[in-house]
Amino acid sequence: MSGRTDFGSRRRKVAVLGATGAVGQAFIRRLVSHPWFELTEVAASERSAGHRYRDVARWIGDDEMPSAVASMIVRPCDAERVHADIVFCALDASVAGETEVAFARAGKIVLSNAKNHRMEPDVPLIIAEVNSAHLGVLEAQRRQRGWRGAIVTNGNCATIVAAMALAPIHERFGISSVILTTMQAVSGAGYPGVPSLDILGNVVPYIADEEPKIESELQKFLGVVDGSAIRPADIRVSAHANRVAVEHGHTVCLSIGLASSGDAASVGRALSDWSGDASARQLPSSPERPLVVADGLDRPQPRRDVDTGGGMTVVVGRVRPDPVLDVKLVAMGHNIIRGAAGASVLNAELLVHCGILPDA
Ligand code: NAP
Repeated sequence: MSGRTDFGSRRRKVAVLGATGAVGQAFIRRLVSHPWFELTEVAASERSAGHRYRDVARWIGDDEMPSAVASMIVRPCDAERVHADIVFCALDASVAGETEVAFARAGKIVLSNAKNHRMEPDVPLIIAEVNSAHLGVLEAQRRQRGWRGAIVTNGNCATIVAAMALAPIHERFGISSVILTTMQAVSGAGYPGVPSLDILGNVVPYIADEEPKIESELQKFLGVVDGSAIRPADIRVSAHANRVAVEHGHTVCLSIGLASSGDAASVGRALSDWSGDASARQLPSSPERPLVVADGLDRPQPRRDVDTGGGMTVVVGRVRPDPVLDVKLVAMGHNIIRGAAGASVLNAELLVHCGILPDA
């Protein structure tokens, strides 16, 4: 994909919908001093709209709420009352679907974190380093729907971690089947999320809707553009999703069946060599390496590895033979940064790089 280099000095105005939530706050942290984007508006539910951000948002984390945002008046999620042309959406799925359509119809480019539109064939589900070519369906999306704007989506946070570990293997060997088990952090459930008495000292072997999302999204991430739609990869996927007492960082254990011959050593090399699509390198949010293979036998671990690459790097380890399929390994990534806000901002940078976003 050819890219632009003349980005100019003016920053593009952007808004965050769902700005008061866990993912919305991660957007704010990444956007307050972004070199290409200027955060000019925040929006949330009618409960918060009309109030100063600092009076309605419970700031999660050890850092201070950025002063530039603290005094902003929260807007309602109404396309007529949010002026920026680029909109990052961190809304609850109960409202994201219709809201995102209304914004796209009004000419906005929506970068969504919600599940609602991810599996529609003309909606790109993007990990910048994995499948930037899928942006090719945007033209068909706009034509078919009569939109001036567009919707580009992020994956489910556990799926993104798994897809980044599988992409280099699929590229090199092809993958026929995957059985995976997730151990997902509590921050993946938003704020206030899972009640503490349900999760402290515990594992909950069920996350509503999660397993079908992981199974279908993985196939779409690793699929190919076919005319005006994305054709999912022909990979059989079985997912088990668990919530564990970890603050940030989703861990995924994967057993993988290869479509052509390969062993653990050659799969390990494919993972170490991988640097992702060229168009996603050297963007402001690109980590030095999107994937790192950990040395230690007992890595990756969320507490020790979750901030690798500023939370944008997925750490893989324990690449070894699998006695049932072909190889098995463990992958771990930051659910709110690589799995949500950071990935979405990187996608927006990719859109600028590819000339899809309007000039500032
Ligand atoms: P959250 O902490 O519960 O925040 C939800 C946000 O949605 C809040 O800003 C809330 O505003 C707003 N909202 C709720 N109901 C609304 C309504 N009726 N109208 C307008 N705004 C409304 O959730 P989150 O964890 O940040 O997740 C946000 C989205 O990202 C979800 O779709 C989630 O599935 C997805 N996601 C989350 C993660 C993660 O790791 N947490 C990862 C990937 C994707 P008020 O404060 O005004 O109520």
